[in-house]
Amino acid sequence: MRFRGGYNILLKGKPDRNISVMPEPEVLYLPLASKRFTFSEICVQQGQKVNGGDILAKDPDNYGVPLLAPLAGEIKLGAEEGYVVLDNVRKDEERADLAEKEIEHIEAKMGDGGVKRYKLLSLGAWQFFYDAYTGTLPDPQGDPQAVIVSTVSLEPFLARGDAQLQKRLLDFTRGLEHLQSLLEYQPIYLVLPDITSAFADLVRNHIRGYAWVKMVEIPLTYPYDDFGILARRLNLKRDKGPVWGVRTEGILATDRALTITKPCTVRIISIGGAGVDGPTHIMVVPGYPTKTIADKYVLEPSARLIDGGVLTGEIAGQSLGVETECRGLTVLPELEEREFLGFVRAGWGRSSYTPCFLSALRKRFREDYTSGVRGEGRPCVSCGYCEDVCPAGLMPHLIHKYLYRDLIEEADEARVDLCIECGLCSYVCPSKIDVRGELIKAKELIAKEQEEIRQEQLRQEEARRREAEARKESEENSE
Ligand code: SF4
Ligand code: SF4
Repeated sequence: MRFRGGYNILLKGKPDRNISVMPEPEVLYLPLASKRFTFSEICVQQGQKVNGGDILAKDPDNYGVPLLAPLAGEIKLGAEEGYVVLDNVRKDEERADLAEKEIEHIEAKMGDGGVKRYKLLSLGAWQFFYDAYTGTLPDPQGDPQAVIVSTVSLEPFLARGDAQLQKRLLDFTRGLEHLQSLLEYQPIYLVLPDITSAFADLVRNHIRGYAWVKMVEIPLTYPYDDFGILARRLNLKRDKGPVWGVRTEGILATDRALTITKPCTVRIISIGGAGVDGPTHIMVVPGYPTKTIADKYVLEPSARLIDGGVLTGEIAGQSLGVETECRGLTVLPELEEREFLGFVRAGWGRSSYTPCFLSALRKRFREDYTSGVRGEGRPCVSCGYCEDVCPAGLMPHLIHKYLYRDLIEEADEARVDLCIECGLCSYVCPSKIDVRGELIKAKELIAKEQEEIRQEQLRQEEARRREAEARKESEENSE
């Protein structure tokens, strides 16, 4: 497979492969919003006692994807805005919050496959699935043209598949079998790193007998693990139907839901970055208090906590609990001194895509990355670095210029929709332009306008239909 662009950022604070179990929490703060979901339909009441696995809330705009209680406890609504607080938490046997009548109905209507899909959705496994092209949650009743399963995670520092798979390789292969049972003939592409390591070889050997799995080996360059990029490189055309993307944790959740009918309530996430004391992986439940994690791992109180990776994560700021889609926490030491003309100051300890630092004379090294932006914002200098690294083949600087002049149609024609939001353009930009942020906003604006046009067309069609009906009725009456 041929890729383009991409760039690896080497930073200190890479999590090791170990998994630490965090102490049992007394209270959980479950965020009612995550990157893709808004759990606006609350299904529990104040003071209600719940078991682990009970449905606390649903996202009505995403096929009713549920927010599950990870442990047993007592509900406190409104105690913290934007959270369901679970107090007096205890670890009891989890249960599957499934409606028997619903299952019977689905079985009669859609058979075994329908029941499996219902279980995946209700037991929290479906939330690990992505539409490869849009990153949204795919329709659980839909049929994909192919499924991409990735064991690779390249953004610093998100949870790595090799850490999540330790001692769970059999669960993983069983999860793949369950996934295959949902498909008819569509291929499953399993993405592995193109390296020789004991672990990669073990996975290859386990999968070798599965004729329906096509192995895809990719170079370890960010962001070649992105589902949108992989779908394009695999030549899967968007107009031939959806492509599902799912990572290691999703396959393990699928196995849990369909082998033992248990909800997926535990997460293995990474905690990495230069501000972490012993970067590693941790086992937590959603809602786990962020403060307990920070007290254990964060070196300085002023460090910046990011929900996600260095390039695409969001500042966790005042977040009280781990959100349900969290794949890793990154901690960057806060740069407290102001750097005047930082972009021209030669730095030995600073690596940059731009060969303007003294460090360009060194071999590549892992850098102590802080929250400092390293320089002031400037206009675009047309250096073309953003274009060099863009894995989607875009000209981000050109789109930036269109957007600066409010030329949204031109940005649309320049295929801003192909942007996978990897953030490399912003990272390499010597002028500190938030190119990624601008492109995301433009995509949202274009999508909103297209939706308005679609709604208007539907309104006009409906008006024409009514007019035709009224005409026909009046003709019949006059006869
Ligand atoms: S334009 Fe989009 S895809 Fe290209 S580098 Fe920037 S964020 Fe990544
Ligand atoms: S990297 Fe920044 S300065 Fe260079 S062309 Fe792109 S937007 Fe312009």
